[in-house]
Amino acid sequence: MDLGINGKWALVCAASKGLGKGCAAALVSEGVNVVITARGEEALNRTADELRALGGGEVRAVAGDITTPEGRAAALAACPQIDILVNNAGGPPPGDFRDWDRDAWIKALDANMLTPIELIKAVVDPMSERGFGRIVNITSAAVKAPIEILGLSNGARSGLTGFVAGLSRKTVAKGVTINNLLPGPFDTDRLAATAAGAAKSSGQTIEAVLAQRAAANPARRFGTKEEFGATCAFLCSVHAGFITGQNLLMDGGAYPGTF
Ligand code: NAD
Repeated sequence: MDLGINGKWALVCAASKGLGKGCAAALVSEGVNVVITARGEEALNRTADELRALGGGEVRAVAGDITTPEGRAAALAACPQIDILVNNAGGPPPGDFRDWDRDAWIKALDANMLTPIELIKAVVDPMSERGFGRIVNITSAAVKAPIEILGLSNGARSGLTGFVAGLSRKTVAKGVTINNLLPGPFDTDRLAATAAGAAKSSGQTIEAVLAQRAAANPARRFGTKEEFGATCAFLCSVHAGFITGQNLLMDGGAYPGTF
């Protein structure tokens, strides 16, 4: 299927690794020109070279923290225009809500709610004027089925989800869709880091923790960043213009509900 987005410009945030990188790779392969961001310049430049080697669209790398006004300004300035926006940032740390003060909450809200909203604000009107726009927010399966120790994530991402639910019904008439992708367990550094924490507290090896987690999923495995990227690219395609305000869960069937 030709996704019909060859030559468009995309900003893919937090994309030197993991799910963001998967989305950037899928878009570049479709001929989309991408600007990728991450805080660490070295890893970002390595990823940019890998993406260029795919032989698709142009790739620009902008190092910076997307949760800061300076980081967002630099990322936005690197794109001649933004037709596609993939919002992403690192997830908040796990813990007990009794230990989280106002600063911890503000940090989580900044990263996983207010940063995507600021970027949407920056791009949505120009997209509407041009009659085409695709916005995909990487959130979490925790929006659908909250994970107790990830209260900061549950809260901040649900706030973004509520905001998007309203706006996405307004923008679609102008050809601009906004959807959320909800990852369950995907094989990325973030998953390895949480497994390392669980291994330490349970006295098991990281490999044992990962094997148990994979076996507990109905698919008996973790998702891959390539699967995630391909789904994101479809949502960004010309064919997905009638899909807006949706929360697409990618979890191998782990969520047990009928709806
Ligand atoms: P990852 O750690 O593999 O990659 C994160 C990427 O984001 C890296 O490129 C990192 O440099 C970049 N980054 C982090 N904070 C940034 C910032 N402030 N500014 C710019 N770049 C930043 O993580 P991942 O597994 O790809 O996860 C992506 C998002 O999806 C996270 O918010 C995570 O919480 C969420 N998520 C992941 C899973 C999973 O199983 N992997 C499940 C649910 C939710």
